[in-house]
Amino acid sequence: MARKHVVGNWKMNGSAAAIDEVLDALQNQSFDASVSVCVPYPYLGQAVAKLKKSAIRVGAQNVSEYGDGAYTGEVSARMLKDIGCAEVIIGHSERRRYFAESDAAVAAKLARLLEVGLFAVVCVGETLAERDGGRAEAAIESQLAPLRALMARGASPERFCVAYEPIWAIGTGRAASLDQIASMHELIKRHLGASFSVLYGGSVKAGNASAILTLPAVDGVLVGGASLDAQEFADICRAAA
Ligand code: 13P
Repeated sequence: MARKHVVGNWKMNGSAAAIDEVLDALQNQSFDASVSVCVPYPYLGQAVAKLKKSAIRVGAQNVSEYGDGAYTGEVSARMLKDIGCAEVIIGHSERRRYFAESDAAVAAKLARLLEVGLFAVVCVGETLAERDGGRAEAAIESQLAPLRALMARGASPERFCVAYEPIWAIGTGRAASLDQIASMHELIKRHLGASFSVLYGGSVKAGNASAILTLPAVDGVLVGGASLDAQEFADICRAAA
């Protein structure tokens, strides 16, 4: 069985001192899981330098949908690769919601990452209204459609994974139930392939990580708030044995 993948998403949190503190605590630990930390852009170089001798990989939380050029304020996939980033989260619900990121933009970002050889973590998730209205599956299927189209044009399923993050479970302390997680992960695998890697995100903590990670359809977790605490994040990484 493939190694589980644990991704920490710091979101717009932290400082140079906090990054040093958390990564100092993590860098010498060894985990069975593949572990990555996605820090804000300004701290990527610092994290890459700090983790030079560690198996922990550094990731970004976004990338431009465009290649290098006159796009003030944007950061290209090539630049992320150039500074030693290994993977990138795209299509997070916070970006879709607050920055109007469309499925088409997410697909363009995925294409840019695949071009330069960076691993992508593509987030999908339904709102509470969609879940309560019985439309959760349809919402996820429509977010998967552009990924399927890219795969049909040759995008390798080895080069990216999907993180299922129900929006109502993010930062709320109310993770999806094990049944909800299992059935949505199975649906995603039916669409993208049985061996396609699917992570779960939304209120993953040290206390629930092991039950979630034990589900056969769960290939890893995407951790927000709990990844800011080195001890708790390390406990989650150990739960992914
Ligand atoms: P929380 O773990 O804080 O709920 O955040 C989940 C998330 O959005 C990770 O990308």
